[in-house]
Amino acid sequence: MITVKRIKGGTDNCYIVADGNQAILIDTAGKACFDMVAEECDKYKMKLIVLTHVHFDHAENAAELSKRYGIPVAYHKKDEELFESFDKQPLKSYGLVGLVVLGLSKKVLRNTKVEQPEDHIYVAEGDDLSSYGIKAKIIELPGHTHGSIGVDVEGEHLFVGDELDNWIRPGVGHLYNDLEAIRQSADKLRHLGDRTVYYGHGDPTKNEKY
Ligand SMILES: [Zn+2]
Ligand SMILES: [Zn+2]
Repeated sequence: MITVKRIKGGTDNCYIVADGNQAILIDTAGKACFDMVAEECDKYKMKLIVLTHVHFDHAENAAELSKRYGIPVAYHKKDEELFESFDKQPLKSYGLVGLVVLGLSKKVLRNTKVEQPEDHIYVAEGDDLSSYGIKAKIIELPGHTHGSIGVDVEGEHLFVGDELDNWIRPGVGHLYNDLEAIRQSADKLRHLGDRTVYYGHGDPTKNEKY
């Protein structure tokens, strides 16, 4: 039986997805939240860390947590360059919410560098995480970043990172590198049908039209 534990960082979420005692962590929150995230993860036998994308508010604790539990960090190869600099994939925004979020993010993005985990694996469309104890599949969702991914757990729980967000209401992510791509990714998610959607930012909802 799958359980989902949402951990709220600053404005962002990360999630422990467990089947009994075994668990994976989807995103890691930012540095300031390390102790809070580790305290929750300590309760499980952690098997894998998955990064929906390599932005600091999702990936900043990955290297440290990977060492703590002796487990790999999974991300898409196309996001690897973001460990060097977030400028490799500049962000734009739409709408008032997007403008505010982008304004707040830009300064931090400029001054933050995420440590690349030594123990890492690349994941891509359709990869199966069963060998890490959770029946889940990777979905490629380019748009917010080139290497953004989602995790579809048992066709029930859908983790979408920043491809969609729920700052005020659920919709296409307000920040994007590629607008056309993020719209197509949102469409791809909608077509998955009935799921609970877990966002990088905001409260979970049912899957719907974005
Ligand atoms: Zn992001
Ligand atoms: Zn984010």
